[in-house]
Amino acid sequence: MARSISNLAAVPPSSDMKALVEKQRAYFETRVTLPLQWRRERLLALQRAAHKYEAEILSALKADLSKSPEEAYLTEVGNIYGELKTALKNVKAWMEPRRGSAPLIIQPARAYQYADPLGVTLIISPWNYPYQLSMAPLIGALAAGCTAVLKPSELSPATSGVLKRMLGEAFPEEVVSVVEGGVEASQALLAERWDLIFFTGGTQVGRVVAEAAARHLTPTVLELGGKSPCIVDRSADLEVTARRIAWGKYVNAGQTCVAPDYVLIPPELKGRFIDLVQKAVRSFYGADVSTSGDYGRIVSPRHYERIAALAADGQIAFGGERDAPSRYFAPTVITDAPLSSPLMQEEIFGPLLPLVDCPSIDDAIRFVRARPKPLALYSFARDAAVNERVLTETSSGGAVANDVCVHFAVEGLPFGGVGESGIGGYHGQASFDAFSHKKSVVKRPFTLDMKLRYPPYGGKLGLLKRFL
Ligand code: NAD
Repeated sequence: MARSISNLAAVPPSSDMKALVEKQRAYFETRVTLPLQWRRERLLALQRAAHKYEAEILSALKADLSKSPEEAYLTEVGNIYGELKTALKNVKAWMEPRRGSAPLIIQPARAYQYADPLGVTLIISPWNYPYQLSMAPLIGALAAGCTAVLKPSELSPATSGVLKRMLGEAFPEEVVSVVEGGVEASQALLAERWDLIFFTGGTQVGRVVAEAAARHLTPTVLELGGKSPCIVDRSADLEVTARRIAWGKYVNAGQTCVAPDYVLIPPELKGRFIDLVQKAVRSFYGADVSTSGDYGRIVSPRHYERIAALAADGQIAFGGERDAPSRYFAPTVITDAPLSSPLMQEEIFGPLLPLVDCPSIDDAIRFVRARPKPLALYSFARDAAVNERVLTETSSGGAVANDVCVHFAVEGLPFGGVGESGIGGYHGQASFDAFSHKKSVVKRPFTLDMKLRYPPYGGKLGLLKRFL
């Protein structure tokens, strides 16, 4: 309660938001952000700030989500250092115009794509990986020569507070500014005109953002969620499959956008799979998970209640222990949930793993194709042809064969959703691209002006057919 009151009090009036956007726009209009040097210096400033505040970030993540420092480094802090290094090493090459080829009819000519910074950008981030999901888009913005206003989540106030101090110290507010607060702050920001809105969060709020952006025809990157399935084939190594799924499901207490949401599995494998997941959970967190320093907590009482309600939709095969005051919810496997139940309809975003009987790969592919396109899909089979069928016959933001979540860590691959799980992608060069406009540029000399394209056209059809 105290948290929400202080957040409400912290919401700046919309006149302040307008003034902030105008200040950033005036700065961007000076064109000072265009040269390589400006971008490198800003990325270096961000890198220095990230190192300086590392200990504070780790303790903020502990305070917000009970993340152990090791897990926080593995899933948040470490990959931001990686993204920063990649951007610093490659920003010069990313900025270079990319050559294309020009058709004969307009020769002599050279064709290029110029990467123009989009301008003044808004980044709205969620609470589940509050550091990483704020910093990664910001790296793209600065590499691309944009300014940014960051609105982190009100549900991870410790991390939002560190971001505010850290970025406030590293940058003047016309370059990077952090606005704390909840829905009201977010909506006041969304009322302004931006050159790009980069939103990470749920699909429902994604729609709100897209509607607000439409008013100004502002482009958006929407990094959303959804139900990411695992498909287990009879040929899979069941022990490794269970261990990897258990890790991806229970890391951050299931509050991961690319967490396996449910498992499609042949009915005769179910019993052994449940035993193996339980074995993996014991090996990760010990016999009493509630005492493990490596297991997270549910972010808020509201989310805890939501997960407790979802857990009632089927039979608990193991887990289910909980403690409301500390928002602890044990790693849980659930069977026999009706497909029409909220557990099988909503994104779970918590440590509940429902198993769905699925006799064949054909059934699994049909099941996935009949539902909104997920953010991630995981296929487990020793038979490579089975994995290939799943990968080519289903559509999802990303996919992994024989593991979960790891595609997120591959900087060379754009990360994003498709359909209801999102629009656009980022990471590595894709982050630079997300904050740039690819401008088509053709350069021609004044010499050699082919008369073929000019009227009168009489009698030129034969020649045109040869040149076009
Ligand atoms: P959320 O959509 O509730 O909130 C995200 C941000 O939007 C927060 O900063 C919040 O203050 C703001 N917001 C909330 N309601 C708003 C409204 N009505 N108008 C304007 N702004 C509003 O999401 P969350 O609960 O913070 O995060 C969980 C969701 O995010 C899950 O669905 C998860 O899958 C998704 N997610 C996606 C990715 C990805 O990379 N695709 C990563 C992490 C989380």
